[in-house]
Amino acid sequence: MQLLEERILRDGRVYPGNVLKVGGFLNHLIDERLLDEIGKEIAARFCEQNVTKIMTIEASGIAIACAAAHYMHAPVLFAKKSKTSNVSSDCFSAQVVSYTHNNTATVIVDKEYLLAGDRVLIVDDFLANGAAVRGLMSLVNQAGATLVGCAIAIEKGFQNGGAELRAEGVRVESLAIVESMTDDTLTLRKQK
Ligand code: 5GP
Repeated sequence: MQLLEERILRDGRVYPGNVLKVGGFLNHLIDERLLDEIGKEIAARFCEQNVTKIMTIEASGIAIACAAAHYMHAPVLFAKKSKTSNVSSDCFSAQVVSYTHNNTATVIVDKEYLLAGDRVLIVDDFLANGAAVRGLMSLVNQAGATLVGCAIAIEKGFQNGGAELRAEGVRVESLAIVESMTDDTLTLRKQK
């Protein structure tokens, strides 16, 4: 997606540990016009899938999921990070290793909000090793719901998450894919 790619090249900042900071336009200070275009693009790619729930993980996926939800007319369900590892029987839960915080969180959704008949689109800001997406996929599986695919704003293509998920047959659509990055250069993968 050209608008997002241009913005990454202009305002993205590379930090140690292969972390790309996009806080100036996507997940801290949010450019609403860009967010809206991202939501429109996600909706266009998955419009034929009869999505009934858009799932993400708190916090930075929520804005993008809401932007997509606006065009897809489906509600957003975000997995919450549980403060305790004791999970109530009313919730589905999964363990997620956080790429940026370097810890493991238990994420939960209330069983009332994720149903066997749901057709779920997973949305997130980044895809790196795939832990966040796999945690969400586990929640979808526990509910017996159907995963229609994953929509990611920025995939870091030099990490394995996206390639592994696609090899397993999961539809992963990334609006921008970073091919490589160093302190001074950031290269995006050319997409059709
Ligand atoms: P994964 O679970 O695929 O390894 O990493 C994805 C999650 O970690 C996303 O939910 C995102 O919030 C965070 N993340 C991974 N890499 C980056 C990055 O380079 N920059 C930022 N801002 N977040 C990242």
